[in-house]
Amino acid sequence: MGQKIPLTVREVPSGKQVLDWIIPKEWNIREAYIKNSRGERIVDLRSSNLHVMSYSAPVHAHLGLKELSEHIYTLPEQPDLIPYRTSYYSENWAFCMSHAQFLSLEDDIYEVFIDSDLKLGHLTFGEAKHQGQTTDEVLLSAHICHPSLANDNCSGLALLACLAERLASRKTRYTYRFLFAPATIGAITWLAENFDSLKIKHGLVMSCVGDGGGPTYKSSRLGDAMIDRAMRHVLTYSFPHADLLDFIPYGYDERQYCSPGFNLPVGLFQRSRFGTFPEYHTSADNLDFIKPKHLASSFNAIWDAIDVLESNRRLLNTKPYGEPQLGRYDLYSPVGGDKRTAERNMAMLWILNLSDGQQTLLDIAERSKLPFKVIRDAAEVLESRGLLSECDAN
Ligand code: ZN
Repeated sequence: MGQKIPLTVREVPSGKQVLDWIIPKEWNIREAYIKNSRGERIVDLRSSNLHVMSYSAPVHAHLGLKELSEHIYTLPEQPDLIPYRTSYYSENWAFCMSHAQFLSLEDDIYEVFIDSDLKLGHLTFGEAKHQGQTTDEVLLSAHICHPSLANDNCSGLALLACLAERLASRKTRYTYRFLFAPATIGAITWLAENFDSLKIKHGLVMSCVGDGGGPTYKSSRLGDAMIDRAMRHVLTYSFPHADLLDFIPYGYDERQYCSPGFNLPVGLFQRSRFGTFPEYHTSADNLDFIKPKHLASSFNAIWDAIDVLESNRRLLNTKPYGEPQLGRYDLYSPVGGDKRTAERNMAMLWILNLSDGQQTLLDIAERSKLPFKVIRDAAEVLESRGLLSECDAN
């Protein structure tokens, strides 16, 4: 990630209190396997890191099949897949394997070995920043806890890095913060570290952004924040069947950003909703499951929403008494007929009518049911002819 964007890596020590939580011990694993009595490794961490339950305590023992079975997770309903399991807050160990493999295990004495440790260390998160013209901030965040699963959550990391890379060359009004942190405890730590200096005006959490489902947008707790309106608006045009959901206090890190003490305007963007696709938290959430074209359309939806945040403003009609005679300003295309010309003409009428110094371009786009881009471009033309003047930035 650091090769693509200038990433600052921060470490916060185990045991530190962050809001109502304590940073846990750090888990590291070097090697793990199950060997049969012939000395063959039938399960090996090196072939898939899903084979060991995350946060497993170290173990080295010889067990019969019955005892071993108590430390094995499988998915009987999806017998060819390896499940992804974690045990963050209770000390235990386990292996994960396909149910088919589990059924094939013979009665034998197995050697189990997990070379891991759980000791005082650090919670690590990465952050990149793009400085805008103002100190008002946009927070874009993705969780990093199990990046070996492709859709949840490597796709979110890739999308965030691409957005950061693209924004680097753009002059922006807002300052952008890109946060790569473990789910829940990472977001809580980041909030604790930034408690006194939060300037977040808009924000988005993204994960599961590479599959062909959805897309799904879950509004912030505020429900009608500008990010909610911007996302709903762009999805209406790019994905007419998008799932637009109200806020619920369950999900990803928007739960922390939208906790009542912070109540930040942060929504959640996904393709398929987490937990609803059969590949979720299994070995089938791999690179065959996600597609470049879905990542690209996810990127475009978020990029369009950023464009709304950046370009939204209030304008004032300088000739508000009667309609201005548009022909005199070289604005009316006398040759009618094509749809884009008709749309542009309607956009001009809406903008002139609603630009009373109160309503923003997004208000006008919503009320006219025209795409924001059409409104924004038409407003620029009207402004260049002196028919609109700039009010305060909103
Ligand atoms: Zn997950």
